[in-house]
Amino acid sequence: MERFVGLVAPMGRMDFALKMIVIMLICGALNYLRDILAHPVTHDDYWNNLFEATFVALPMATLGLMLLSHMKQLQTQLYREATTDSLTQLPNRRWFLDRVGALPVGQHVFVMLDIDHFKRINDTHGHDRGDTCLQLFARHMSAHLNVGDFCARFGGEEFAVLLKDTELAEAEIIAKALTQGIFLQIDQSTCERVTASAGLVIIQTDCRFDEALKRADHALYLAKANGRARFEHLRAGAYEEACRQAPRLERRKAVSA
Ligand code: GH3
Ligand code: MG
Ligand code: MG
Repeated sequence: MERFVGLVAPMGRMDFALKMIVIMLICGALNYLRDILAHPVTHDDYWNNLFEATFVALPMATLGLMLLSHMKQLQTQLYREATTDSLTQLPNRRWFLDRVGALPVGQHVFVMLDIDHFKRINDTHGHDRGDTCLQLFARHMSAHLNVGDFCARFGGEEFAVLLKDTELAEAEIIAKALTQGIFLQIDQSTCERVTASAGLVIIQTDCRFDEALKRADHALYLAKANGRARFEHLRAGAYEEACRQAPRLERRKAVSA
């Protein structure tokens, strides 16, 4: 049904008029077919049938196309609301995973970010200031994206960035800039720097993204453990090696310990 609505719903006045003409021609053809099959024949030419069908079908076809157009608008609005984070207006995890799944074949860079000591900002300056910090971070990330790149709020103070067809050297410059963070205005005379830690991995589109996620998460854990406000790049095989040495990697526990 979703596909049908997407296909038939008119996308503008011109499309509406074109689809209406097609519907009318089909109605005329059906009317003509009915007459050919009927005995005795009432009309024997197509245009006569089309003229007759137009009077009967026009109001119904207009109403149908208008309803489909409305349904398509609602579908688009629903998808946008279900895939947008209301606080930062960034796309959410679901949207990000959908987009990653539709990436063209190639080599891309995935960066997972987590704001440093964010709980302290909430505890010291209040939850509203924490929200402002998240909004500033979202803008900070969007400002560093090139055409084709995209980012999302993964949840809490975690963000994900996909740098499409990007060389490692360039990705590292972007990751470093992202981890430098933002300045959060505390009061009229005070600003506080808020940084982030990041895990960076190269992903091939023919590989499973959940594996890339695990590797990026581990790289992020290393960035936290190595002092925060930095990124770590996990090379191919490094995560598997770490898993062999410590079978139960638990990033959050290890960091807070
Ligand atoms: P670390 O440097 O190790 O990442 O420490 P952290 O304090 O950033 O991480 P922790 O997981 O201890 O705290 C995350 C906090 O983020 C806890 C949670 O209340 C807060 N948080 C999650 N979502 C929101 C939100 O939408 N708004 C605000 N203000 N706070 C949020
Ligand atoms: Mg976190
Ligand atoms: Mg954090």
